[in-house]
Amino acid sequence: MSRILPADGVEFEFTVPVVVIGGGAAGMVAALAAHEQGAGVLVLERDALPQGSTALSAGLIPAPGTRWQRAAGIEDSPERFAADIIAKAKGEPDPAEVARVAQAVGPALEWLADRYGLPFSVVDNFSYPGHSARRMHGLPSRSGAELIDRLRGAVEAAGIDVLCEAHVTALYSDGARVRGVEVTRPDGSTERVGCGALILACNGYGGNRALVERHVPELADALYFGHPGNQGDALLWGEALGAATRHLSGHQGHGSVAHPAGILVTWATITEGGVQVNVEGRRFSNEAQGYSEQAAIVLRQPDGIAWTVFDERIADIARQFEDFRQAEAIGAVLTADTPVELARLMKIDADALAATLAEIDRLKAAGGTDDFGRSFAGSAPLVPPYRAVRVTGALFHTQGGLVVDDDARVLDSQGTPLPNLHAAGGAACGVSGSKASGYLSGNGLLTAVALGRIAGTAAARAVKEETQ
Ligand SMILES: Cc1cc2nc3c(=O)[nH]c(=O)nc-3n(C[C@H](O)[C@H](O)[C@H](O)COP(=O)(O)OP(=O)(O)OC[C@H]3O[C@@H](n4cnc5c(N)ncnc54)[C@H](O)[C@@H]3O)c2cc1C
Repeated sequence: MSRILPADGVEFEFTVPVVVIGGGAAGMVAALAAHEQGAGVLVLERDALPQGSTALSAGLIPAPGTRWQRAAGIEDSPERFAADIIAKAKGEPDPAEVARVAQAVGPALEWLADRYGLPFSVVDNFSYPGHSARRMHGLPSRSGAELIDRLRGAVEAAGIDVLCEAHVTALYSDGARVRGVEVTRPDGSTERVGCGALILACNGYGGNRALVERHVPELADALYFGHPGNQGDALLWGEALGAATRHLSGHQGHGSVAHPAGILVTWATITEGGVQVNVEGRRFSNEAQGYSEQAAIVLRQPDGIAWTVFDERIADIARQFEDFRQAEAIGAVLTADTPVELARLMKIDADALAATLAEIDRLKAAGGTDDFGRSFAGSAPLVPPYRAVRVTGALFHTQGGLVVDDDARVLDSQGTPLPNLHAAGGAACGVSGSKASGYLSGNGLLTAVALGRIAGTAAARAVKEETQ
């Protein structure tokens, strides 16, 4: 389906200056930015309603030096954020790419708030692994559904055209430039739309089993928790056009998806002092390293299952997330006053769980470090009533992709930009390097919002310059 066709002799039904493929966060932000530059914009979205992985996410976007941080007394800077990103990915990402998004994202969030009324606030009551400052920003419900709804509302209010049930199945290229796209409608009919510039905002390849098997084999059999429509079209088109790609094995996994409920259980349950045990009641890892790498670790446990164990204080923090409230509402979060009672509900060995929790009590009281290297210094004790959720590991999205420049233009293997092709969000190479452990929380929406704005602005300006 992801074909490149010759543009010679093709009659386009109509032509739009800036065409955006994909109606997730990256596409919507790019559309707003391009529209502000005065360009005509069309968003093409394969679904009946634009949602993407953005709607499935917690909607949390990391940004340094924002006014919300300042109001909360949080010191931060783009340089500090960039250092955290590079440290988590063990130096793998290109520092210039990291600096680009770390600098752009704060102003982008303030722009979305000021211009389009998105009421962001900073999450200031818990930290994510690897972030040296509290810099996650979210909307009131802390859900990606609210993020995409508000972005879609802003796009509609701006009068930008969004064509749904418009699956882009081919690009038309004349060898030098992309001239347009083929759109396939649900009834199988096709239309050809010409473009001055094209923005690929159709995310990565998490929904394409063959590509996951090739690039992320450790999660080939894992639950894919992202949007199924993300089939790797940007990657396949880019490769066919000679684009440079990088870090295709990089991805965001998650080691805490309620199973079988299929609901994300926030990692605050761990960072605030909870632990994971396997079905034998034993711990098996340093959970505090990060949720992304924890996906494959959980999947290696018996039955591919773990239990996240925490307490009521932590549950109260987790309740700011719509997902967690849902998990509680459907009974996925168990409650008990003693480890033995909790083990009975979990249907696991009571002595083993009691011994594990007693060891956690001891480590917390002593401020000690366990055999896996997790430090419990300063961590509040777990006190009854205890809570537990049965979870598994999942693939959330891929982080590798097309290499882009300062204008989010796609580069070829020599580093030369393809003149009118841009990529943002999961379509572009992220800043997480080649491993799951390189994913710093929020790296997904970071490149969606930051590169989306850059791509939209640059594409519209380039089209304007060419027509002047
Ligand atoms: C459960 C979950 C929780 C997450 N939580 C967070 C979080 O809190 N913070 C964070 O930073 N990241 C998070 N992420 C990652 C984040 O959701 C993604 O990185 C981000 O949404 C990517 O945005 P995007 O616009 O690139 O892609 P998407 O939002 O997936 O949008 C891509 C769109 O392109 C459309 N599309 C694809 N192919 C075509 C085609 N050929 N033609 C037309 N349309 C097409 C799709 O239908 C889709 O609507 C989470 C991911 C998951 C799965």
